[in-house]
Amino acid sequence: MPEENLLTGMSSAYDDCHAASPHAAEGDRTVNPDGTPKEIGCANCWPPSADEAWEARSSLPVTAELIDESHFHVTLRKCPACAQSFVSIFTETIDWVDGDDPQYWTLKPITPAEAADLVPQGGSLTEASIDALGSGRRCLQHDHPKGEEARSYWRPR
Ligand SMILES: [Zn+2]
Repeated sequence: MPEENLLTGMSSAYDDCHAASPHAAEGDRTVNPDGTPKEIGCANCWPPSADEAWEARSSLPVTAELIDESHFHVTLRKCPACAQSFVSIFTETIDWVDGDDPQYWTLKPITPAEAADLVPQGGSLTEASIDALGSGRRCLQHDHPKGEEARSYWRPR
């Protein structure tokens, strides 16, 4: 269990919402009746800046490992402050030249229903089926192309 203090090092933004229980009840309060997200996340997990959101990502506890392959790693993460769930997708492109392979991360906010649906699929999930989730929803993208600086940005679809 990832019980270490996951909020160490977070910005003061967390002070605004630390009253929220890390064990807040599960529920659909982040979701509209039709299943679309009402408001995504909080200042703790989904700040306006892509760079800050990338930093925040590392403090989000992993709640499930869906795919754990060396070059394709998919996990579910959940914000302890607001209970927003995310699917985190890591892909590494192999070019067989040297060890500095291009690496890409996507963090996509998902609804509790989508999270519950993903877990039993686990290793049978494909990149395409994950991509198809929440079409049009804004994702956090973090790219580290070969030989270039890493960058974080929002990816509208
Ligand atoms: Zn949050």
